Amino acid sequence: MTHRDDTSKLRELDRKHIWHPFTQMQDWRENDFLIIERGKGSYLYDTEGKKYLDGVSSLWVNVHGHRKKELDRAMKRQLGLVAHSTFLGLSNVPAIRLAEELVGIAPAGLNKVYYSDNGSTAVEIALKMAYQYWQHRGKKKNTFITFTNAYHGDTIGSVSVGGIDIFHQIFQPLLFPTHRTHSPYCYRCPLGKSHPGCRLDCLDQLDGLLREESEEIAAVILEPEVQGAAGMITQPEGFVRRVRDICDRHQTLLIFDEVATGFGRTGKMFASEHSGVSPDLLAVAKGITGGYLPLAATLVRDEIYEAFLGKYEENKAFFHGHTYTANPLACEVARENIRLLKEDHFLDQVADRACLLAEGLGRFQELTSVGQIRQRGLMAGIELVADKTTKEEIPSRDKAGIRVIRKARELGAILRPLGNAIVLMPPLSISRRELKKLLEIAFASIRAFERGDV
Ligand code: PMP
Repeated sequence: MTHRDDTSKLRELDRKHIWHPFTQMQDWRENDFLIIERGKGSYLYDTEGKKYLDGVSSLWVNVHGHRKKELDRAMKRQLGLVAHSTFLGLSNVPAIRLAEELVGIAPAGLNKVYYSDNGSTAVEIALKMAYQYWQHRGKKKNTFITFTNAYHGDTIGSVSVGGIDIFHQIFQPLLFPTHRTHSPYCYRCPLGKSHPGCRLDCLDQLDGLLREESEEIAAVILEPEVQGAAGMITQPEGFVRRVRDICDRHQTLLIFDEVATGFGRTGKMFASEHSGVSPDLLAVAKGITGGYLPLAATLVRDEIYEAFLGKYEENKAFFHGHTYTANPLACEVARENIRLLKEDHFLDQVADRACLLAEGLGRFQELTSVGQIRQRGLMAGIELVADKTTKEEIPSRDKAGIRVIRKARELGAILRPLGNAIVLMPPLSISRRELKKLLEIAFASIRAFERGDV
């Protein structure tokens, strides 16, 4: 364990040299922060030896817990062979074997795997492929349809198809134009209608857009079932299927971004399975390596892949690749992660934990600041509001989410809010006892916020 003095020293060095992502560094410099030294199962340990439940799976990536024996072993095994070799002009053993696995578990029809190393680039690749696919078919389709509240990553292309203004507005002049349509945020219905009884009228806009603009639309991009970064906004039953039907009717490609929802997170291997729908292109990352190493993939239908075939001099190849594409260490860990995910009991266990989470969250309704609770599998968002009846939002200067997670930290859990939504997204392997504890901490933290105790 690192000595207390060393922790102060490390904090000092961090403040001196590091710029953290999505962080107001002025606040960061004024407050003490945790420095993580190790992890085990559902827990992370800081440099002072204090342990915390990893309530957001280290930003939604952890599947089997930290230091999972089998994953450690897979990585060491591969280290004994080679850590990295390029995928440009060469192949490697783990990447080939992993591709077979990925195709085996992916929604039907996605037979080709294009590797990259984070969710944003998996999305960029899907966008560029969709665009180039139409070029090869002799059609100039220059734009995409995106949904309000969508989040697809932070690179300029993925920001262009994003729909969260607080993240994206500032970059507006740099982005390529898209058509944006309503997503079904039923708690705050974009059409001003009240739930229940949703007839998915917001999809009429998508249909209308495609009717008018399909000549120029390369693809529609959607996070199926849950818009994660927007605060875990869940979609009503039938929505994903209707989107697929509309795309089919207008012969438009459909891209699913399952960066957050893939690999068991919603209780199925992929969220697309809930509606039995396959996209034409699928972006995955995060949970692919069980939270061990950066790896991502874009899976596509054969028809898309085949459109890129041609003579060398025709220049039809897909010109995109990263230095660490298909890193063998990451691919080998991913293979082992999937093997464990496919074990008989694993997704049943996730279903059991998801029920326990739903039961536990029921009690949160009695809290005066809880507006809506949204959940799919082991991803949940608790939206805090200033007034339950009017759904009035809490102003950002009140830092509601930040105050709640500060309290949670004191009580032994690491959470990370999305604005005023408190996210619970534990490792899929979390035990019943740990999940109950996480729920207790989240409940107590929101109550402390309501009482002004934090
Ligand atoms: N798509 C979705 C749905 C995401 O949730 C995220 C990250 N939270 C991304 C893309 C971007 O992934 P990355 O941070 O690995 O670039």
